[in-house]
Amino acid sequence: MPQRQLYTSVALEQAARPLLLLVQHLTGLNTTFITRIDWKALTQQVVLVEGQLSVPVQEGAVVAWSDSMCRLLFDAKLEQSDAVPELFPGSAGVALGMQSFFALPVLSEGKTIGTLCGASNNLVVIKDHTLISLKLIADAIAYQMALDQQMQLQQKKVKVAEKTIDKLYQQAQQMENLAHTDELTGLDNRRAFQTKFEQYQLQSQTQGTALALMMIDIDEFKQLNDQHGHETGDQALQHLANVLAAVARQSDIACRLGGDEFVLAAADTDAQGLLHLAQRVQHEFKQQMQQSGLASSLSIGIASSVESALELLLQRADQALYKAKELGRNRVEIAG
Ligand code: GH3
Ligand code: MG
Repeated sequence: MPQRQLYTSVALEQAARPLLLLVQHLTGLNTTFITRIDWKALTQQVVLVEGQLSVPVQEGAVVAWSDSMCRLLFDAKLEQSDAVPELFPGSAGVALGMQSFFALPVLSEGKTIGTLCGASNNLVVIKDHTLISLKLIADAIAYQMALDQQMQLQQKKVKVAEKTIDKLYQQAQQMENLAHTDELTGLDNRRAFQTKFEQYQLQSQTQGTALALMMIDIDEFKQLNDQHGHETGDQALQHLANVLAAVARQSDIACRLGGDEFVLAAADTDAQGLLHLAQRVQHEFKQQMQQSGLASSLSIGIASSVESALELLLQRADQALYKAKELGRNRVEIAG
C-alpha cells in the first residue's frame, strides 16, 4: 500500500486529529480541516482533513490566498455562512459543493498562521456558544502548529549545518591530501614520505629488521620532454607512478621526490630483495612506455641499513644512482 503523504508532523497530527473530530461533533459539520498560510508566497495549504465524504477537501491541496474560502469569509467579516452558493458564487467552496462553511484564524503571537475550518454540503448553523468552544480549539491547534513550525525551522537549520560541516570536512580532507600527495602522479610527496619513513625506521630498529630503499630516475628525461613535449613527459611520470603503485606491497612507501626522481622504500627487505623489485620496475616501465610508442629506461640506486638516518640513506641511494648513470644508465646499482 502506498504511504500516505504527511503535511504535518506526526505530533501535530496526533494532537489535531481528535480536535477535528470534536469540531465535527460540536458543529454537526461533516468535513473539518486545518490549513497553514504562507504569507510570503500568499498561499494556503490544507494540512489535515477529517471526513472528506461531504466536501472533498484534499490534504496537501494548495490555493492562492486570493482564491481562499477563508479569505472570502474574513473579508466579509464573517465567521460562518450557511449560504455559500448565494454569498460566494463561483468560489472554490461552491465547486466543492459547500453549502455551509466556518473558518477561524489560528493565531500565534498575534499572527494568523493558519485556519480551523468546517464545511458541509447541507445546511448547518453554528450556535454562538459553540463558536466560543471552537475558538478555544483553534487556540489549542495554534500552540501545536507553532511548535510544529519551530521544529521544521530547527530541522532545516540542522540540515544546513550538517551540509556545511560536510563541505568543510571534505575541504579539510582535500587540503590534507594536497599537503601529502604529489598532484601529477597521486603518489606520496616528499613530506609524506619523510613522515612514513621515520615510523618505518623506528619499527625496524626495535625489531632489528632491514630497511631498504631505491631511488629511481628516468634516463634522458629532458630529451623526452624536448622531443615529444611536456605532456608526453607528464604521461611518462604517470606511467612510472602506476608501475610503482602496482609493484609496491601495501607496506611499501612509493613517493615522487620531485622532477623525474622517485623513491620506493620497503620494510623488512634487504638490498637483494629490492634488487629484484628494481628490475621488475625497470621492465614494466619500459613496457608501458613501449605501448605508448616511446623508448625510455630507468636508472636505479639502492641503499639499505638499519641505523642510517633517512637523509643518509637517501644520499647513499643517490650515489648508487649516480653510479648507474655514469655506467651507462638503464641499470641498477647497490650502494656499497
Ligand atoms: P639523466 O638521464 O641524467 O637523468 O637525464 P635527464 O634528462 O633525465 O636529466 P634530469 O633528471 O636532470 O632531468 C630532469 C628533467 O625533468 C628536467 C625537467 O625539465 C623535467 N621535469 C621536471 N619536472 C617535470 C614535470 O613535472 N613534468 C615534465 N614533463 N617534466 C619535468
Ligand atoms: Mg633523469
